Amino acid sequence: MVTVADEETSMTKLHCYVHVPFCRERCSYCDFFLVTRQDLLGRFFSALHSESSERLAALRGSTVHSVHFGGGTPSSVPVAYLKNWFETLSRHVSLSDDAEITLEANPEDLTNEKLQELAALGVNRLSIGVQSFIPEKLRALGRLHSAEEALRVTDDAMKLLGNVSVDLICGVEGEDPDIWERDLYTAISRGLPHVSVYMLTLEKKTRLENLVRRGLVTLPDESVQADMYMMACELLEAEGFKHYEVSNFSKPGFFSRYNLGCWQRESYLGFGPSAHSFLVSGDHELRSANVSSMIRYMTSPYEAQEYCEMLSCAERINEKIFLSLRLSSGLELVDLMRYHDGSSVVVENVDQLKKQGLIEIRDGVIKVSRKGFLFADRVAEELLPAWKRD
Ligand code: SF4
Repeated sequence: MVTVADEETSMTKLHCYVHVPFCRERCSYCDFFLVTRQDLLGRFFSALHSESSERLAALRGSTVHSVHFGGGTPSSVPVAYLKNWFETLSRHVSLSDDAEITLEANPEDLTNEKLQELAALGVNRLSIGVQSFIPEKLRALGRLHSAEEALRVTDDAMKLLGNVSVDLICGVEGEDPDIWERDLYTAISRGLPHVSVYMLTLEKKTRLENLVRRGLVTLPDESVQADMYMMACELLEAEGFKHYEVSNFSKPGFFSRYNLGCWQRESYLGFGPSAHSFLVSGDHELRSANVSSMIRYMTSPYEAQEYCEMLSCAERINEKIFLSLRLSSGLELVDLMRYHDGSSVVVENVDQLKKQGLIEIRDGVIKVSRKGFLFADRVAEELLPAWKRD
């Protein structure tokens, strides 16, 4: 039986994800794994050090190509904690010379001093949770930063690093297409090389879901939200952004290496509670996930892993179809036919999706259309081999 340790030992190229599950407050629409108790910082980072030391020791000699600090809000914790984690990392593995080091940040944390500290640490890409540059929208979202702060921080980060992404969200209470257009043009006017666009979704058991259910908040119709998404695609592409993944737009050379690596099914190790890992080694592909419990994680960081499974052939094919169709690079038609053992059923499904305008086929590659990106998972479902839907 192959264990995670065996897989990690024989692996030579990988990405790292560090889940920093702290936020100052929980936003009404957010269901991520996080806590708001800053008093747990010390214990958490000590557990993170234990977990990382043990797993990275098994990787000695490997090269890490990207590190992504996500959360939560990694920018809300003192940089000294992140520095300690890097020291743990560099005791066991090397960073490639051009490694991408991304940190997810919120505007209210990014003082000039913090930006300088992060740059000194080696962070060379910031993904800023701006969400909007418009005061009414930020108020409706209950965000802690102001529109002025969002602008100032975006500009300062661009001046310092040049490699900055902002998240923008559409479909907020009271939002119409004109407001959304203003947000998009503001982002474009800052000269950013990367923008991520999300449609506000109602996640179960969030405060927002409760408010909507009780009729206290009304969100724009799904069709209005879909039009906003289409508007974002049109405007950003007209400005030279490549729409390289459902929610992500990049100027040439500025795509997120970490995210693209995950979508292209390269190996990545996730540290921290709720973090997932994917390891490719020879013919083996292993997926694992850490516990989604802060107490369990901090108490037994050496036993952080909650599940681990070797992917079956069917699972690999399903993943390949789902992930490829989220990317502008698409899926080779010849591969899809091979996955279906040449069955004619898939040919009919492909024709149907083409007729509905959800996919296009160019040079033997199936690509999801702009409209199709709104239904990327449904498109993928239609193209899964029936016997492999396990
Ligand atoms: S800042 Fe981000 S991660 Fe934290 S609660 Fe808000 S949406 Fe969730």
